[in-house]
Amino acid sequence: MEEVVVANFINGEFVPASSYVPSFDPSTGKVWAKIPDSGAEEVDKAVTAAKTAFKTWSVKSAEERSKVLMKIAEKLEARMAEFVELESRDQGKPLWLSKAVDIPRAVHNFRVFASSVLHDTNRSSVMNAANAVNYTVRDPVGVAGLISPWNLPLYLLSFKIAPAIAAGNTVVAKPSEMTSVSAWKLCEVFNEAGVPPGVINLVFGVGPKAGEAIVVHPDVPLISFTGGTVTAKRLKTSAAPFSKKLSLELGGKNPAVIFADADMEKCIATTIRSSFLNQGEICLCTSRIYVEKPAYEDFLKKFVEETKKLKVGNPREDSSFMGALISKEHLEKVKGYVKVGVEEGATIACGEGKESLDLPAEYKDGYYMRPTVFTDLKDDSRLMKEEIFGPVTCVVPFDTEEEVIVKANDVQYGLAATVWTQDVSRLHRVSRKIQAGTVWANCWLVRDLNMPFGGMKDSGTGREGCVDSMDFYTEQKTICLKL
Ligand code: NDP
Repeated sequence: MEEVVVANFINGEFVPASSYVPSFDPSTGKVWAKIPDSGAEEVDKAVTAAKTAFKTWSVKSAEERSKVLMKIAEKLEARMAEFVELESRDQGKPLWLSKAVDIPRAVHNFRVFASSVLHDTNRSSVMNAANAVNYTVRDPVGVAGLISPWNLPLYLLSFKIAPAIAAGNTVVAKPSEMTSVSAWKLCEVFNEAGVPPGVINLVFGVGPKAGEAIVVHPDVPLISFTGGTVTAKRLKTSAAPFSKKLSLELGGKNPAVIFADADMEKCIATTIRSSFLNQGEICLCTSRIYVEKPAYEDFLKKFVEETKKLKVGNPREDSSFMGALISKEHLEKVKGYVKVGVEEGATIACGEGKESLDLPAEYKDGYYMRPTVFTDLKDDSRLMKEEIFGPVTCVVPFDTEEEVIVKANDVQYGLAATVWTQDVSRLHRVSRKIQAGTVWANCWLVRDLNMPFGGMKDSGTGREGCVDSMDFYTEQKTICLKL
């Protein structure tokens, strides 16, 4: 395959870059694309185009904007197979996964926000004693700076672009330089769909340069960022001198709380997915599995048996449950946690260091590792506290409901959790007490875009979803009429 050369997309045109950074195919470890190494200059051009486009896009009716979003969804769906292939190639995930989840969800994001913007209503309040009526109006904020990570590239980028433009903003976006190819191709779709020039601009490059330039640009009043908690702290500092709206969707250390009365067949199958889907590179992946003592031994035996059956290999083969991790550095980081676990005295029940990988020659330099299950962990183990963001999960027993709630909450993160029991009262009780933006009871990753999504504590600030994204991507104004 010919090397892919990505170009920035500014004011509706593809602009070649003056310098590039390489992008690797994680499945082979070989360079397969060149990504513009953009900086402040390119970002400034994109912001200028977006500012100009804002003048006309922001005053279009919701119906007009909705039609454009619907067209994007239609055109993207028509090129599904091409995007499925690109996303898998760029990210390392299995092809079946980008076909089942990533690209359909990107299409869905455009459709859902195209529809929800048509149903947006304003609030009003009558003050009888004061003889006054209040009502709200919403206005788009301006140029939205959108920064997205590498794990679910188009899925997460489209979850930002769709609500931003539906609300009447224009956009300057930067995906991770490790996974920029599908976003670059999406720009062709924007042109096919008739998105006016300058409404959506993509500037490719590395975070500290291109990303930072967006964050500190004075004409970008709103930043929506999805990525790591450490990067977000830096971003908050950089943005502090400006009064920017910030939405931060960050890391997680998500617990599964499994009571002995759970439907174990469903629970084990789902917890395998929640631990290892997308190579464990989903912010919502389970990485601490607490099992009530009477069920612990049986759960562990079956969970380990099923984990051992998962095939790791060529992402193009349907039989591969897991493909490759995103990069050599990330693979080393995740394997580093396995070392830490061993040094801390924990036991590897299966995976890295126990079973080897048998890969064909072509994939020997890819970034693969086996799904790994740890047991015998202390509560303060780094594996129980830090986000690993890879196929490593920890299984530990617990005695009581009160004890497991304390343990589940004893981390800096608060993104998601699962709770497994057939006792509905307990489901409600435990779900209410767990500190997480989303609690899945007897399921995982069942997402309704109408519902708020986001994290507590170090997992983020703000919520996104049909109503919540509209709140974020607009400024509300209260108008009070004295009658
Ligand atoms: P990073 O924080 O490293 O990067 C996220 C994005 O920020 C990338 O586009 C990156 O660019 C960019 N970036 C890096 N440095 C800066 C900077 N100084 N200023 C502005 N932008 C910058 O996260 P990862 O890409 O490694 O993604 C994994 C993380 O994302 C995990 O912690 C995961 O939990 C979290 N995540 C959270 C989700 C949620 O909804 N809560 C969903 C998915 C992931 P580049 O990569 O090109 O350097």
